[in-house]
Amino acid sequence: MKKHEVIPKIIPEKDRPRCTIPGCTKSGAAFGYYQKDGTPLFRKYCHKHVAIKYGTNGWDYKIYRKDYCENIDGRLGFNCTTNIIEPELQLDADHIDGNPLNNDPKNIQTLCKCCHAIKTNQSQDYLTLGRRSLKKQMGGNELIERCI
Ligand SMILES: [Zn+2]
Ligand SMILES: [Zn+2]
Repeated sequence: MKKHEVIPKIIPEKDRPRCTIPGCTKSGAAFGYYQKDGTPLFRKYCHKHVAIKYGTNGWDYKIYRKDYCENIDGRLGFNCTTNIIEPELQLDADHIDGNPLNNDPKNIQTLCKCCHAIKTNQSQDYLTLGRRSLKKQMGGNELIERCI
């Protein structure tokens, strides 16, 4: 038998430690490490709050996302009538000026998927390079500003 063989235990979601952010009911994200008896280690925060904390997965600007589509005021030239049931699935944080790196709160508006699709088409956001390729190509913010 190998000395350090650890058989990972599966902990059901409901038995995992909770995210410590007040009001969050999700379980802590798994670290990917195990104790000697195979018990997995969990973070103090759920996946979403880990991402917010470290500003990854787009959460550097998604924190400004509201829980409704802001186009209910008709800012895109028509009024949104989408029924929001699952904000997490239906709502996007949109960069108003189309610059994916301008994370100024004033440049972020919340749009449902329907309105977002129309806005993207209207303003031709797709003509600017995507967030990922921009970051990859240019590196620092200074350079990126010049290329837009
Ligand atoms: Zn959480
Ligand atoms: Zn909408």
